[in-house]
Amino acid sequence: MIIIMLGAQGTGKGTVAGIISEQTNWPQISTGDIFRKNISEKTELGIEANKYMSKGNLVPDEITIPMVADRLSQEDAKQGAILDGFPRNIKQAQKLDEILKDMGKQVDLVVNLSTPREEIIDRMLTRVVCSNPDCKTTYNTKLHPPKVEGVCDKCGAPLKQREDDSNSEAINRRLEIYENQTAPLVEYYKEKGVLRTETVSVSINRMGKDVAQDIIQLVKKGE
Ligand code: ADP
Ligand code: ZN
Repeated sequence: MIIIMLGAQGTGKGTVAGIISEQTNWPQISTGDIFRKNISEKTELGIEANKYMSKGNLVPDEITIPMVADRLSQEDAKQGAILDGFPRNIKQAQKLDEILKDMGKQVDLVVNLSTPREEIIDRMLTRVVCSNPDCKTTYNTKLHPPKVEGVCDKCGAPLKQREDDSNSEAINRRLEIYENQTAPLVEYYKEKGVLRTETVSVSINRMGKDVAQDIIQLVKKGE
């Protein structure tokens, strides 16, 4: 089953995707995480991607799409995968349909997480991530802080703020791209009709865990 997580920055896509991944054993494929891992390892891909990411722009489709196609073709994604941060524009969505078709698959479930706009910027500013690239757990210093300030609960590595979360120009640019290029995907998937688009609202009162449980129920229904 191929699940897509849609939603603006800081809505908890990654957190929800991680919980679904743990419960289904399907990999969470986060394009942002793959780019950040490459940046920390200073690979050619990372150096190239960072030129765009540091400014809050999308990494070009020519780089992103083949990277996702390759990841989806790996053995561990045979049964299913949770895409987190991809697709992010119509072109990527169309290409994804083609890639999956060639594999005899399709997008089965699209989950759209929505958060009140005024909460989004605050969420980006209070987000911290584990600096261990194999862990990369995300915390929010207000909504779900780590047990010890600045230290990852899971692996003990230091937590840090993402470069693109600490720069107001990059924040604004990402929100603008989200509105213009990514938000239209909700309509794209709705029109396809072949799948269920669930709009789950995430707010301070309703955290990632509850949302993930709702989605797992949907996944079970779809199997
Ligand atoms: P956020 O949702 O907070 O923007 P992500 O980790 O999903 O965080 O993405 C961080 C950055 O990585 C994006 O701003 C963009 O530069 C790049 N990126 C991630 N996914 C894609 C994608 N599908 N296409 C192009 N660029 C991407
Ligand atoms: Zn960690």
